[in-house]
Amino acid sequence: MHVETVDHPLILLHGGAGAIHEDTPRARQRNEERETVLGSILRDAATRYQQGDSALDLVEFCVRAMEDSPLFNAGIGSVLTEQGWVEMDASIMDGATQKAGAVALLRRLRHPISAARFLMDHSPYVFLAGPDAEQWFVDQGLETIEPARLITAERKRQWEKATGRQLDHSAESGMEPTQTVGAVAIDRAGNLAAATSTGGMMRKAAGRIGDSALIGAGTFADNRSCAVSTTGEGEFFIRGTIAAAVHCSVTLQRRSLQDAVVHALEHLQSLGGNGGLIALTPSTGVFAFTTAGMYRAYLTGDQRIFVGSLQQLREFSP
Ligand code: ASP
Repeated sequence: MHVETVDHPLILLHGGAGAIHEDTPRARQRNEERETVLGSILRDAATRYQQGDSALDLVEFCVRAMEDSPLFNAGIGSVLTEQGWVEMDASIMDGATQKAGAVALLRRLRHPISAARFLMDHSPYVFLAGPDAEQWFVDQGLETIEPARLITAERKRQWEKATGRQLDHSAESGMEPTQTVGAVAIDRAGNLAAATSTGGMMRKAAGRIGDSALIGAGTFADNRSCAVSTTGEGEFFIRGTIAAAVHCSVTLQRRSLQDAVVHALEHLQSLGGNGGLIALTPSTGVFAFTTAGMYRAYLTGDQRIFVGSLQQLREFSP
């Protein structure tokens, strides 16, 4: 398991855990491109932080930007179901109020994370899924996108190659990681928030909902403990309620954030799962993954940005 601890960061991003490698020039270039997107998003987020954006606004902003990038498995660039279309899941949580919003099985909303946020802010519900839910968001004026525009040529190729099976997150599979995205942040008022968005697993069954849509599995935030966003084989994160497990270890067992994260991921592995997560308290940020790598980045209190995919992080200079 790879674990990194950072003192007093403001925002942590992940762009998916999995069998990341850099043994071909093409793979190295792809990794660099993804790192550059993450670094650029954090540069813009740094300005927003200084302007006083809330933690919720910051995580929504970062995840929206990753949804817009075709290089990540969220929004445009999502992976495809067995049938060859996109179904997207997302969730967001406010550490100050423990309010949350979650959506699943969306096929034509441009920003699933903003649908989750809208649900949290403007309805009594926490979780809506499926076509009728999507129609409600459309009626409320949320931005739509032509479903075909969500599908990139690269995802189509991966879908064809992955005939009959899902991409998994183990190094042995040799398959590309799917690049689910997530963000955790703390704002100037000291509030925490977390957000996660994904197209799920390649060639998943239509109607399958993963951990990224589930509060407590893929996303969790509570000012009393931490904010968490996960990535990996969703079914195992659901069974281990991994994001909530980190929170419970910090609050009930008084573990340090790093110990809580290691404990949760050891449990994930004991269930047979693989993946990673980002977690943040007011004093500490943790990146951890059981896979070969995880696309990731963070913003420090003195506005420096670090990015990486495999073991080492490097300072990002635009
Ligand atoms: N956790 C996501 C899911 O199972 C996939 C991923 O993180 O790559 O839907």
